[in-house]
Amino acid sequence: MTDKNLTAILYKQGDIRLEDSPVPEPGPGQVQLCMQHVGICGSDVHYWQHGAIGDFILKAPMVLGHEAAGVVSQVGAGVTSLKVGDRVAIEPGVPCRRCTDCKKGRYNLCPDMKFCATPPVHGNLARFYVHDADFCFKLPDHVSTEEGALLEPLSVGVHACKRAGVTLGSKVLICGAGPIGLVNLLTAKACGASQVCVTDLDDKRLEMAKAMGADLTVKVTSKDPREMADIIEGCFGEKPSITIECSGAPASIRTAIYCTRSGGCVVLVGLGPSDVTLPIVDAAVREVDIRGIFRYVNCYPTALAMIASGKVDVRPLITHRFRLEDTMEAFETTRRGDGIKVMICCAR
Ligand code: NAD
Ligand code: ZN
Repeated sequence: MTDKNLTAILYKQGDIRLEDSPVPEPGPGQVQLCMQHVGICGSDVHYWQHGAIGDFILKAPMVLGHEAAGVVSQVGAGVTSLKVGDRVAIEPGVPCRRCTDCKKGRYNLCPDMKFCATPPVHGNLARFYVHDADFCFKLPDHVSTEEGALLEPLSVGVHACKRAGVTLGSKVLICGAGPIGLVNLLTAKACGASQVCVTDLDDKRLEMAKAMGADLTVKVTSKDPREMADIIEGCFGEKPSITIECSGAPASIRTAIYCTRSGGCVVLVGLGPSDVTLPIVDAAVREVDIRGIFRYVNCYPTALAMIASGKVDVRPLITHRFRLEDTMEAFETTRRGDGIKVMICCAR
């Protein structure tokens, strides 16, 4: 094994292998990237543990990883926006650019989306990787490639807060204090929310939310969503007008609806079971809008500007660091839920 392009490949459920693979060459409009940092996402772990997420089923070996940043090591024909040596964050989903959804500017809904580490598309947990140049975002000198990798989850927060309409003075409830709940917390505060409350079952995660700027945290102690909504309202002093649900737990989605002020909005970020029983009449008669989000669209530039300007500091999200060679240990750590964000350094 030469280890020229060490790559983390998921062969099948429960079977990740580190192997040398051919170094990819950039085609027209593409760049070759010497990978620097790749964060592990819950979905990477889910594919490893279960071999599928919903309709996306692993049928052939797939390279893992999609929260990534690298250094341009080669430019393909026609690329003028980037040069060798540029440090970039990689937006992992490349849409067709031609369909109605793409043309409407909602390319995250493109039916032909090619998204890293969503079967059958390879991810970028490797030494070298090739990506379309227009989905790479040059990082200013003072923004690290770790921060570049974190643009991916942060973009989920940006998209959710936009869909929720978070603005100056918003009172926001965030359910779930995993990485996604926390990036929503950071974004909501940066949008000017005056009060953000975060819920979770886990004390350590609530402590993290507090440390990252939550005005209030509420531990979920009741299985009864109405009772939980009353507890949250009691702590908040009133019902929040916006709730961003980031756990996917059915009980939490029910709480989110009961807890949101009439005329307000619940944004569903967390994805749990595909069918969930909801207090839909309560939502209907109180005109509580329920909105979904899928990843993000046109959010990388905003997320990068937030980091570059210092409006948001994502660095505390990183609790563990591993080398590419130690990918298995990194995945075990993420699976155990020991930390928040586990970051892999791919540079030799
Ligand atoms: P995570 O598992 O690390 O965090 C979820 C948190 O929710 C945990 O801390 C857990 O303790 C907490 N939780 C569980 N039950 C709860 C309850 N009843 N009330 C309050 N909190 C509860 O996951 P993550 O990486 O932070 O991702 C969160 C969710 O967002 C996942 O479902 C993921 O699939 C989803 N997600 C969706 C999108 C999208 O585009 N819609 C993008 C990324 C992630
Ligand atoms: Zn399209």
